[in-house]
Amino acid sequence: MNISKEKCVGCANCVPVCSVGAIYIGADGLAEINRDACVECHNCHRSLSPEYLPSGITRLIRKFLTLVHLRFQPDPDVCPTDAFQPEDLEWPRIVRRAFSDPMVTHESTGVHGRGTEEVKTNDVSGRIKHGEVGVVVEFGRPGISTLFRDVEKVTTALAEHDVVFEAGNPVTQLMTDTNTGRIREDLLDERILSCIVEVTVKLDDTARTLEALKRICKNSNTVISIGVSTVCAENGSDPLQEIVRSEGFQIGWAKLNLGLGRVSNPSAIAREASS
Ligand code: SF4
Ligand code: SF4
Repeated sequence: MNISKEKCVGCANCVPVCSVGAIYIGADGLAEINRDACVECHNCHRSLSPEYLPSGITRLIRKFLTLVHLRFQPDPDVCPTDAFQPEDLEWPRIVRRAFSDPMVTHESTGVHGRGTEEVKTNDVSGRIKHGEVGVVVEFGRPGISTLFRDVEKVTTALAEHDVVFEAGNPVTQLMTDTNTGRIREDLLDERILSCIVEVTVKLDDTARTLEALKRICKNSNTVISIGVSTVCAENGSDPLQEIVRSEGFQIGWAKLNLGLGRVSNPSAIAREASS
């Protein structure tokens, strides 16, 4: 994202709308973007409606009003001179936008934003099977972005355990080798708003994996959230809760997928067919 120095009048409306605090008013009194910090989320461009005031006259009016201790302040939800100039991003910077702008469809998944449907459609996709656990590791949040270099520290550590990286996940698609969890070298210094790593582990290996994650995440430069999911046993019991608690994690909240879309549990299908 760029801000036109010719058009900007330094009203500062855009400073608070940046998702990661990358916009500031420079020494010349005009808005600037810290290019390293900008994650190309386009929030600034989307959330401020453009007005088309002539910048030269607007600056003069602002200066004059300052002299008489008055202030020209446009409505807070506009850029008065349409000063934002989105760039045609090239590789590798274009990856920032794919993981940061929720309005952009991710080429590798066809899903808007940073992840896949995870287990939300497990009744249809059957991604996680009985005896398996899906683990999602979510990096970054608005206000706290992340570098792929920090993501790689976790993916390489996970790869040392018996995990399977989800093939359709956007981060997996940026790996050079899913056996090592290495991410493409040219992306490591790219900053993104957030991303999700998805792996499957055997139920018996879950405690070991969670323990490793806890150790690695302690030294992380960003905020990391961990989610686990499994298929309940046929009597409705959930084998995962005890494992998660034994690792010292609190179960804050949970989602239950009732499988209302269609019956995909094999034994339920068999029962239905015989009735
Ligand atoms: S809102 Fe527009 S005119 Fe105001 S400081 Fe930001 S870029 Fe400049
Ligand atoms: S594109 Fe996003 S990160 Fe970059 S300046 Fe705009 S709001 Fe901030």
